[in-house]
Amino acid sequence: MADTPPLATLHRTLRRQFGFSSLREGQEEVIRSVLAGRDTLAILPTGAGKSLCYQLPALHLRGTTVVVSPLIALMKDQVDKLQELGIEAAQVNSALSAREEAAALAAIDEERSEFVFTTPERLTDPEFLALLRGTTIDLFVVDEAHCLSQWGHDFRPAYLALRGALEALGRPRVLALTATATEPVIEDIVRHLELVDPAILQTGIYRPNLRLEVVPVRSEEEKLAELPRLVANGGGTGIVYAATIKHCLAAHQHLAALGFAVAPYHGRLPARERQAHQERFMAGELQAIVATNAFGLGVDKPDIRFVVHLDMPGSLESYYQEAGRAGRDGEPARCVLLYLPADRRTQLYFLRGNLRRHRDDEKAALDRERLERMVHYGQTALCRWRTLLEGFGEPAEEALPEGRCCHCDRCERPLEAPSPPRADEGAAAVDRLPPPVGEADPAALTAGDALVLPVYGRGEVAAVDGEELVVAFADGETRRFRR
Ligand code: ADP
Ligand code: MG
Ligand code: ZN
Repeated sequence: MADTPPLATLHRTLRRQFGFSSLREGQEEVIRSVLAGRDTLAILPTGAGKSLCYQLPALHLRGTTVVVSPLIALMKDQVDKLQELGIEAAQVNSALSAREEAAALAAIDEERSEFVFTTPERLTDPEFLALLRGTTIDLFVVDEAHCLSQWGHDFRPAYLALRGALEALGRPRVLALTATATEPVIEDIVRHLELVDPAILQTGIYRPNLRLEVVPVRSEEEKLAELPRLVANGGGTGIVYAATIKHCLAAHQHLAALGFAVAPYHGRLPARERQAHQERFMAGELQAIVATNAFGLGVDKPDIRFVVHLDMPGSLESYYQEAGRAGRDGEPARCVLLYLPADRRTQLYFLRGNLRRHRDDEKAALDRERLERMVHYGQTALCRWRTLLEGFGEPAEEALPEGRCCHCDRCERPLEAPSPPRADEGAAAVDRLPPPVGEADPAALTAGDALVLPVYGRGEVAAVDGEELVVAFADGETRRFRR
């Protein structure tokens, strides 16, 4: 509030402490807002550099900065990085030995730590809170703040206790960070943290260095068959995401048998093995880590060159969060979704399981809607980036002045018209109508009906010609199908 350092001073710290030559889009605004003493909610895409948004201002604030982080692995990473830069940082969580914990608490007590990383659970411990109260806390950071919202995709009930911790600490200024920009999540963050007249700062989610790509497949076997090519042409280290441990193991085995340097990562591996595999991945020793979504929240490896999704995630939010781990260094990277229409059913099955546990119709409807937006992304005939931006309710024109990104699979290879029938094949060469998505009954379709076809995307029945349908698609193409 009182003495915000001039921009030149911030830039000096940026260069000297962090070795960066300039701030990225969005960072400066957030940093200024924090230094001005305002509660701030920063919504920046994965890879945008959210950590620097608290690290830089913290060095210009007298007291200690508390950083709440959902995962211990993530915390360790951040602490190691800061220590490498010669900045004192402590972590307090359940993974420490008694001796390590005593050392961390002493460092905090003596106000030797510029940063204290901890979990939301630990911030419910009265003794720990009392220790923090005895020091000057002038910035309270909630990283991955969407974990606080049950509308988000990584809900962590312990995050709801942060409000109490903030009270106990006398409400230092708050910086909440997330990549999730949907309205209900933003509202939840502001409400649950009781942010006071917060600055809500947001940059677009478009990341031009990410090449989005969907590869339609017809079976699980075909997914595995596509994998080696994608990993081999990945241009460096990448992540292969699977929706289940079973798929994770199958994909890992398949790639390992072909001689790829790969390692698995999922919740059923012993913690020590998971850690070892993550470390090999971070060190660039793997061509790919084959993982469930247990891997990645906050993984800070800037040079991930590709992210392949073996299975479709349950929402566009999850997809963007996971795929967005590629190319954080700004260099070109590929995000490939293997699209099997039947994966929608698997996700519906997961959703029904959730519903049985929570019984909440409103949330169920929202989850369904998010799944359908994901499905639409997989099926669209239009630019993938445009579909993604629109799926997040972002006006595409701003990021994509041409209305399309010009470098996704759809922009580069518009849907080919089906090959013309060969003379001896006659009518049999007209493709059979693939089962439409949703409830549409192929037998009952008439002119004017809207429908969504796997692979082809949204269309409208332009004409009915006996057993054949002419469908006009959103990309302006018309195609003929047998039903
Ligand atoms: P996020 O939390 O938004 O996903 P991170 O804070 O993990 O992103 O940062 C992603 C990468 O960008 C890190 O490797 C980080 O060092 C780098 N980075 C952040 N800010 C800058 C900057 N101003 N200039 C260059 N690199 C940066
Ligand atoms: Mg982060
Ligand atoms: Zn495009």
